[in-house]
Amino acid sequence: MSVDRITEGRYDVPDDEVPATSCPYCGRPFRSEQYATFHVGLAHPDECSDDELAAFDEERDDEEYDLLTFHLKAAVSVFLVYFMFTFLYALVWAG
Ligand SMILES: [Zn+2]
Repeated sequence: MSVDRITEGRYDVPDDEVPATSCPYCGRPFRSEQYATFHVGLAHPDECSDDELAAFDEERDDEEYDLLTFHLKAAVSVFLVYFMFTFLYALVWAG
């Protein structure tokens, strides 16, 4: 499964929305400049300019950072729930 497939649905523009921008290479509409940048880097790495490639690299870093913080938050939540249960359990036994 390629990254483009995973993110496909997210970048699609609904029929009732006016696309903010479109791909200069294939004309595909996008909801934001950011999505277009991402798409150009994924779908047109051979055709796009160095600037566009650099912009894509930056966007991709942001995406990875978002994912990382998401996983971190999930891990912390699990830990807190676990801690709370352990604490309650200890409290019950101590009482
Ligand atoms: Zn395109």
